[in-house]
Amino acid sequence: MKKIKRKDFIKKTSLVIGAGATGVLTSCGKKEEKDSASIHTREKLEWKMVTTWPPHFPIMGEGADRFAKEVETMSDGQLKIHVYGGGELIPPFETFDAVSQGMAEMGHSSAYYWAGKAQATQFFPGVPFGMNPQESNAWLYYGGGLELWRELYSKFNLIPFPAGNTGAQMGGWFNKEINTIADIKGLKMRMPGIGGKVLTEAGGTTILSPAAEIYTNLERGVLDATEWVGPYHDYLMGFYKIAKYYYYPGWHEPSGGLELIINKSAYNQLSKSLQEIIKIAAKALNISMLSEFEKMNIEYLKKIKQEKSVEIKRYPDEVLRKLKEITKKVLSDITNKDEMSKRIYDSYSKFQKEIYDWSSLNRNY
Ligand code: CA
Repeated sequence: MKKIKRKDFIKKTSLVIGAGATGVLTSCGKKEEKDSASIHTREKLEWKMVTTWPPHFPIMGEGADRFAKEVETMSDGQLKIHVYGGGELIPPFETFDAVSQGMAEMGHSSAYYWAGKAQATQFFPGVPFGMNPQESNAWLYYGGGLELWRELYSKFNLIPFPAGNTGAQMGGWFNKEINTIADIKGLKMRMPGIGGKVLTEAGGTTILSPAAEIYTNLERGVLDATEWVGPYHDYLMGFYKIAKYYYYPGWHEPSGGLELIINKSAYNQLSKSLQEIIKIAAKALNISMLSEFEKMNIEYLKKIKQEKSVEIKRYPDEVLRKLKEITKKVLSDITNKDEMSKRIYDSYSKFQKEIYDWSSLNRNY
């Protein structure tokens, strides 16, 4: 594990936001090479993977690199994947379109960035007050979640695979205490996704500060508070230097699921064996990224606890209860307006209820 300084981390982060890449896209790369030694012609494929992460970004970018290497090794060099950080080939938030249109064969990202394409995408990474990563994986792989995800993405000519998770996130960094729900009123906070809508509904102002500007905005008071990920990435962002309170739990993101998306036409042209390799490597990525986040969060939570200026606090029960109530309203607003969101959330919430009946027994200690 490389040690990363805040400055480098911010620099990497800003690449994602820069979004001004001028790379020229070409169609699916494919070339035939003759293996003279074994006297047979073997088709080798070269694919592009675009990502919403800065190049080699800790855990996410590194995971995408590792995935590419594993696929190449398992396929004995038959499928070589070139990984591009956000901004290297295309702007990060064009990942979905680029893969959908076949300009790149695959992409790594988070489905909640694509709510503008289809509202229902935002249910797959996680839902406020929803399931944790383990429970979410159970829903995706065995509870019908992935089928719904594939159905949703099918019209975009994409096949999604669960491919990583940040783990449960933290509640965020504040410079004032949150004692009642009234303390949210007028609070300018960076919080994307459904959680951001809940914050707005609670009287806060949701500001979608680009990642590279969050620190400065918090320092200058453009933001009163921000959430980001968890101890590891939050520490690298340096928030402990300018915010006093570090709140938990991350009610808005109890799971931060990531996705691998593949252009359906490109995938269908692969041999069964290459398809299987991708499936297995995506599953490996799904577990390795989550495990790495958990491990690094342990180390960096220790570091944050050592910072004397930081106080780690739990949101009061009453605040969480109110936020949960508001979340229900926000979710029903979304599902009332969009049929696919309703089908997906019905499936998700049914599974959540059932798995809680089970996990409340086995976690009851
Ligand atoms: Ca977050």
